[in-house]
Amino acid sequence: MWSNSVDKNLRERAEAVIPGGMYGHQSVRLLPDDYPQFFDRASGAYLWDVDGNRYIDFMCGYGPNLFGYGQPDIDAAYIDRMKQGDTMTGPAGLMVDLAEQMTALVTHADWAMFCKNGTDATTMAMMIARNHTRRKTIVLAKGAYHGAAPWCTPLRNGVVPSDRAHQIFYDYNSVESLEAAVREAGDDLAAIFASPIKHDTFVDQEDVDPAYARRARELCDETGALLIVDDVRAGLRLARDCSWARVGIEPDLSSWGKSIANGHPISALLGAEKARAAAATIYATGSYWFSAAPMAASLATLKMVRETDYLEHTQVLGERLRSGLNEAATRHGFALRQTGPAVMPLIMFDDDPGLGKGYLWNDALMKRGVYFHPWHNMFICAAMTEKDIDDTLQASDEAFKIVRDAGSIPPVEKLAVLSKLPNAD
Ligand SMILES: *Cc1c(COP(=O)(O)O)cnc(C)c1O
Repeated sequence: MWSNSVDKNLRERAEAVIPGGMYGHQSVRLLPDDYPQFFDRASGAYLWDVDGNRYIDFMCGYGPNLFGYGQPDIDAAYIDRMKQGDTMTGPAGLMVDLAEQMTALVTHADWAMFCKNGTDATTMAMMIARNHTRRKTIVLAKGAYHGAAPWCTPLRNGVVPSDRAHQIFYDYNSVESLEAAVREAGDDLAAIFASPIKHDTFVDQEDVDPAYARRARELCDETGALLIVDDVRAGLRLARDCSWARVGIEPDLSSWGKSIANGHPISALLGAEKARAAAATIYATGSYWFSAAPMAASLATLKMVRETDYLEHTQVLGERLRSGLNEAATRHGFALRQTGPAVMPLIMFDDDPGLGKGYLWNDALMKRGVYFHPWHNMFICAAMTEKDIDDTLQASDEAFKIVRDAGSIPPVEKLAVLSKLPNAD
């Protein structure tokens, strides 16, 4: 039987010593009430909370888990390197191996810089574009996530207008809107930022429209601005290359993180020759950016990227999940909106503006050992099996029944705060 007394107790203690009980993307404040906040253990595709409940984890750590939690080869590389020397007075030689391998894998890239978080990489991308062009304005898609620094964090508390100066927004996938933003930037355009796909929270996901990607490339070529693809979330999940390789467009810079070391802390900025001099002349660094163990883990991850069929395997599983859920939904008289690539699905109910059905369904799945998310894209990891998908479908069947029996469901009250937050863009 599912239970949560240990989690409840930890949450009470956390309220006293951690602001808001928890912060950032891993706070469960905006999830169904009973979602566990604290976890104890993770292995392969599974996660155990502090009460010992096991879940098939479709959040994958919000992205880092690509080959399964604790993947033995990757973790052995990490542990061996840690014993030999990790955070030292200078980098280990394998930093050069990693830069060589990442630039060999990613078509547009001629050089690599390593850092810790995706935010480090997107911030460096912005600085390099401004240094390269000696201009200030960046053009970004409305609602796209690029990290949690003052220039890009989604909430405006603690952010002052000057942190957001020189930014113009466009609608993702709209050539017209992108052109208007570039026109408005005039002769001050430093960069166009683009997510590889539209993977914003709370809204349907969209694959990239090749015409929009092509136009972004042309506009940068015409103006001398740099094109930046933020592949921190989708990188290595859609292609063994930059995600825009799928539409034949090469950015000047791409930011990477999350999956590149299967959960070990490292991120990267990759760039084309043209941006090399600008990259060499910004000052960007961090105490842990040169640590060797995460680099060793990344090398082991890239080896698996090259040598396994993980991409095809996760694709097949994602499609099995998608068609199975559609079939189950139809059987129970529901329609789902399953958007995004099958390997990074966002699943919502049609006709559920207040997300009430979604929350009830997710809660029922969670209590049956399936960790889904009601408004953030999820992930398929390579450690999942057909049986995991089939078990998920079986749990979904019971969860659909619960939603059906509940009749009319009110909007989720706690989500009302979203419209009141001072973050309107
Ligand atoms: C997660 C994410 C970031 C920020 O990465 P952090 O490691 O959390 O700093 C940037 N861009 C995208 C698209 C992301 O998903």
